[in-house]
Amino acid sequence: MELSISSEPPSHNLAENLAVEHEELKQLHEWKDWKWQLKNRITTLEQLKKLISLTPSEEEGIKRSKGRLAMAITPYFFSLIDKTNPNCPIRKQAIPRIEEFSISTHDMVDPCGEDNHSPVPGLVHRYPDRVLLLVTDACAMYCRYCTRRRMVGEELPPMSTEQFEAAYKYIKSKRSIRDVLISGGDPLMLKTEHLEYYLKRLRSISHIDIIRLGTRVPATLPMRIDKELCEMLKKYHPIYLSIHFSHPREITEYVKDACSMLSDAGIPLGSQTVLLKGINDKPSVMKKLMHELLRIRVRPYYIYQCDPVTGTGHFRTPVAVGINIIEKLRGHTSGYAVPTFVIDAPGGGGKIPVGPTYLISQAKDKVVLRNYQGEIFEYFEDCGG
Ligand SMILES: *Cc1c(COP(=O)(O)O)cnc(C)c1O
Ligand code: SF4
Repeated sequence: MELSISSEPPSHNLAENLAVEHEELKQLHEWKDWKWQLKNRITTLEQLKKLISLTPSEEEGIKRSKGRLAMAITPYFFSLIDKTNPNCPIRKQAIPRIEEFSISTHDMVDPCGEDNHSPVPGLVHRYPDRVLLLVTDACAMYCRYCTRRRMVGEELPPMSTEQFEAAYKYIKSKRSIRDVLISGGDPLMLKTEHLEYYLKRLRSISHIDIIRLGTRVPATLPMRIDKELCEMLKKYHPIYLSIHFSHPREITEYVKDACSMLSDAGIPLGSQTVLLKGINDKPSVMKKLMHELLRIRVRPYYIYQCDPVTGTGHFRTPVAVGINIIEKLRGHTSGYAVPTFVIDAPGGGGKIPVGPTYLISQAKDKVVLRNYQGEIFEYFEDCGG
């Protein structure tokens, strides 16, 4: 079994058509073909230079980012960049900068301690009733802040059948596991039949209640969400999808269509967002993102503090920034628009929720609370005793 990425020569090579303006490219009927989008990803400095004027930091960053987490940008995701703005939030996520190569004091290669909680290769078992299964290291676009950059982006063959069977055996032997989260890389980079094989096998385990997929493909390659995929997924319900979104600009008509198809296939959609300096660290931007997500039937699930991964210092904000974002959401807008802000504890403690404090004091029979407007209330715990 191999990745969907094919090595056949592209019919309309983006690199050869650089003279063609992006607006014209979007008119090509291939634009909507996800395989074309993958084949024509922008991966070299030469290609990118012809499309956009780069800063010296970007030029150097691209030259240095080879091999693991090398640059790869789908023409679709590239088309969301505002080329006139060096601080464009889409641009900063996709184009490497020299800062990626400076290391801060507390930077780690595997900050969430995944490798230490791995009973068999490709499987992380940290919580009592659920596991994380990493099936591929490939993604449609490589986010410059990727928390799994230690293992993502070489585009190696996906998990082998033998490796999967070892993970399967482990899951089958542990009756406490009722939830499998399939991630990577991006599991939607696999061929549909290949993904189906995993789902079918996992569904044959009677103690598995839910199967979740963690993916950024609906945002970076929305054309991948086709009828065939949705028809396949719905055979293995309950399937849940957590989609990684970073900025309201990512919510386009294509993304809306992709999410509609998934929702119509009965798949509950949640979002995951990494808090990123200069990209989504303003409460107004995050609120807009959450509202846009609800409009396309995606329920905000998590905002993550940016993990202390080597080379991501320039993306990190203080924790207080995230807490303040939740403060500006909770009570001020629909509860459905308020995700949980979490820090994945360095060293492998798992996700820890952090947020504003509404419980001011807790005494015998009485708690003191504050509401979203800062007003103080007392609640008497008169439990009828
Ligand atoms: C995030 C994560 C999960 C899923 O956690 P939920 O809070 O249930 O979404 C499971 N396993 C690992 C290792 C994780 O990092
Ligand atoms: S989609 Fe996820 S795994 Fe892939 S590069 Fe982005 S953050 Fe990393």
